[in-house]
Amino acid sequence: MKLVVVSKFQPINKIQQLYEVGQRLFGENRPLEMRDKYEILPKDIKWHFIGHLQTNKIKSIISFVNVIESVNSAYLLKKVNDDAASVDRIVDVMLEFHIAHEETKQGFSIEEAKDFLASEKFHSLHNVNVIGVMGMATFTDDKNMVRKEFATLKHYFELLKQDFFEDNLSFQEISMGMSEDYPLAVEEGSTIVRIGTAIFGAREYK
Ligand SMILES: *Cc1c(COP(=O)(O)O)cnc(C)c1O
Repeated sequence: MKLVVVSKFQPINKIQQLYEVGQRLFGENRPLEMRDKYEILPKDIKWHFIGHLQTNKIKSIISFVNVIESVNSAYLLKKVNDDAASVDRIVDVMLEFHIAHEETKQGFSIEEAKDFLASEKFHSLHNVNVIGVMGMATFTDDKNMVRKEFATLKHYFELLKQDFFEDNLSFQEISMGMSEDYPLAVEEGSTIVRIGTAIFGAREYK
């Protein structure tokens, strides 16, 4: 189980405090904010990008990002691949799935992902390494609904592992669970939880 501390909107000194007690994985959802923090903070921090990534912003993080968890389309993966190639890196990524009931949430459907992973186009991408799946559950008090959504993501992981990544030992991550719902996510098989508010308190959006 890995903990990604979600440090979006948090000041440098608060991140530094957690670094000093040993935390190394941090998550951000805005590329330029992540790059600014990367530049100031110690270089052994592993940065996970977890937000909406516009293709014209990939370049600002591609040279240092550890994992892009929120790859939600074939188009975006191709762009990440090409920018990774231009800096001579192979970047770890996760496929984000749409598991919530809210239409506003992003991500692949399982059919889209399967079609894409079976395609020539996917096999031509040599500068990205798919290490797992990511998803966000519906924001609701209905625990059964949330639990079902996490179980669905775990099921997608198993399907993809079996059909496309049997021989890829690095395909092993299921990133699910935030401050409100991580206990359920862990029960349903999460390998990475992404937690902000429960650690820092409520964010101050400025
Ligand atoms: C902000 C965010 C989190 C953390 O949310 P908290 O409720 O503060 O724990 C996790 N995942 C993603 C994708 C986020 O944008």
